[in-house]
Amino acid sequence: MKIGRIGEESNPTIVLELDGKWFNIGGGLESIWGVTDEPDVEHNLLEWIEHGMFGPEKIARVVSQLNEKGTLDRFHIPEPREFLMVYTPRQIICVGRNYADHAKELGHEVPESPILFNKLPSTCVGGGQTVSVPKSMGQVDYEGEIAIVIGKGGTDITQMEAIEHIAGYTLLNDITAREMQGKLKSNGHPWMMAKNYPGFCPFGPTIRLVDEISHPLALDLRLSVNGEERQNGTTRDFLFPLPRLISSISEHIPLLPGDLIATGTPAGVGPLKDGDDVVIFCPEIGTLNHSVKISSK
Ligand code: ZN
Repeated sequence: MKIGRIGEESNPTIVLELDGKWFNIGGGLESIWGVTDEPDVEHNLLEWIEHGMFGPEKIARVVSQLNEKGTLDRFHIPEPREFLMVYTPRQIICVGRNYADHAKELGHEVPESPILFNKLPSTCVGGGQTVSVPKSMGQVDYEGEIAIVIGKGGTDITQMEAIEHIAGYTLLNDITAREMQGKLKSNGHPWMMAKNYPGFCPFGPTIRLVDEISHPLALDLRLSVNGEERQNGTTRDFLFPLPRLISSISEHIPLLPGDLIATGTPAGVGPLKDGDDVVIFCPEIGTLNHSVKISSK
């Protein structure tokens, strides 16, 4: 099942994809999801996640109810062309150098434990948007990534428990001001500024819920610019697989429902130019696209 939001930001509606068909569930929440007492829950996917609406048992129950005779037809819609940003996450935790080949291309040692940094909620934009970058920023790179959407929050999550804390998966471009990052690193400073310009975190445009990802440790990821493939990786090559990432992060940072964990980027990162169209694709998760505008400033 895939879930997203469409319509106007002032009056959005939640839609879901099931077996290749799309449904508008904005008007039938009580009967399908059992939502009764949260006025905003209808339009805010972060609240849905906090209320446990994307737990595997809940989804199984919803799917069986949707499949009951007559229910599906009522909500069927054509495949949406545009989506709103799914929600604004509270924390975006990023993993650096999680694919050995990417560590190598940037001339780094393979790390012994996950290298973590963060992007701020203000960097987030939805799919289909134009990301504007000032020319004065110098080289700005794409980094196609698979992101985990945390369902149940927690601290000190064990590797055994980790998968239970995932609500779903989405796609993300960890846009990076590479020259600025290089200068910050060589001065021994954190590279936060190089990662947090407004618009530097396009993600979505939908969330693939856990029910349909049976092999999260074997997902393929591709990124193309203007139709030309630049990155092609698989989560099989992770230095730190998902359970290890979730466990390591939660030892130090309490994970909250809806948090995104950007799991790192494969080899092939490179600069963005004015007018570029970026497409990030994972067969099991979906397609995220955005364009780029380099302003003259
Ligand atoms: Zn990254």
